[in-house]
Amino acid sequence: MSFDVERIRKEFPVLDQEIHGKPLAFLDSAASSQKPRAVIDAISALYSRDYANIHRGVYELSQRATRAFEASREKTRRFIGAAEAKEIVFVRGTTEAINLVAQSFGRENVGEGDEILITHMEHHSNIVPWQMLCREKGAVLRVAPIDDRGALDMEAFASLLSDRTRIVAVSHVSNALGTVNPVEEIVRLSHERGVPVLLDGAQAVPHQRVDVAALDCDFYAFSSHKLFGPSGIGVLYGKKELLEAMPPWQGGGEMILSVTFEDTVYNEIPHKFEAGTPDIGGVVGFGAALDWVEEVGYDAIHAHEQELLEYGTEALLSVPGVRIIGTAPGKAAVLSFVMDDAHPHDIGTILDGEGVAVRTGHHCAQPVMARFGVPATARASLAVYNNQRDLDALVRGLHKVREVLT
Ligand code: PLP
Repeated sequence: MSFDVERIRKEFPVLDQEIHGKPLAFLDSAASSQKPRAVIDAISALYSRDYANIHRGVYELSQRATRAFEASREKTRRFIGAAEAKEIVFVRGTTEAINLVAQSFGRENVGEGDEILITHMEHHSNIVPWQMLCREKGAVLRVAPIDDRGALDMEAFASLLSDRTRIVAVSHVSNALGTVNPVEEIVRLSHERGVPVLLDGAQAVPHQRVDVAALDCDFYAFSSHKLFGPSGIGVLYGKKELLEAMPPWQGGGEMILSVTFEDTVYNEIPHKFEAGTPDIGGVVGFGAALDWVEEVGYDAIHAHEQELLEYGTEALLSVPGVRIIGTAPGKAAVLSFVMDDAHPHDIGTILDGEGVAVRTGHHCAQPVMARFGVPATARASLAVYNNQRDLDALVRGLHKVREVLT
């Protein structure tokens, strides 16, 4: 059966509305995606019938909530191809996952004069935690360059791997440019030197199947809210041997086996890294989002998005003065652009008046903006629920921007 985007759109109640008297064209899914009815209903059902704190209660409601919570962990394991459910740590999001690795693995394994290798296209959340660690330890942050299309310079990357490199941390897909990095090659080169690799998958999982076993990465971080699930929840996948060897980074309930004032015995993974009451409803909603994505299927998602990307690229370039930033081959469905004589913030405001929601600014990737010599861009990012009408509305809006500003 051919892909029916209108049927998909009906599952997202938020899309069915007018903004400033115009049909909503939501083109900011890279920042956060909208939620299907299945996710909203799963959260509502938990709070309506099955909610209690998890893992500690012997009574029925607590057992039900615990089962629902742990079922999401198992779904996550299957979804990304991890070997064991204990390799799935629930955190607040990609940012927290990377901070966890920097502060736990990093503090144990990075010392003075050691190096951490990232790339020029990283989101701030895959820069700042490493910078903080470098400051604390006297280590050095190395940055692999990108070319004018926004593709990673792999020769430079390989030459920056050294005997002092202690970890490589790279985005799977860039949020500002849409570049899909050759992560298999990155893992292979790094492992040849015995260096573990963290992949920031925040922008990959919404668009393509990720198999951590096939990638052989050591850590993989992503957020629920960009994958049609609730915000406040995310995943750190880590290889069991690494997680087991790492110290906890936050202390509190759940992460302990026994506590006296003299000593504490830590719990097993993943609980060792899940101090305190988690976002139970968020994790259950996230499980529903994973089911939803599986049902739609990545083949359909990818094919639809790539078709729209092609349509949108051509349409954008038909507007005089528009320049697309990020043109790496095989890129994901992200269209970052600038327009002559129009500041991105003004573009965003005028588009909002037309019902078109795009992100404007530096997209938490200021070094990328500096690399391309722009202070900011406007970014239209696509998801499986977008259609050609959304892109037509964007282009109409940009003609209006030209009328008003240029
Ligand atoms: N990494 C990338 C590539 C992102 O696009 C984002 C969010 O935009 C993040 C990390 C941070 O994700 P979160 O804010 O969900 O922690």
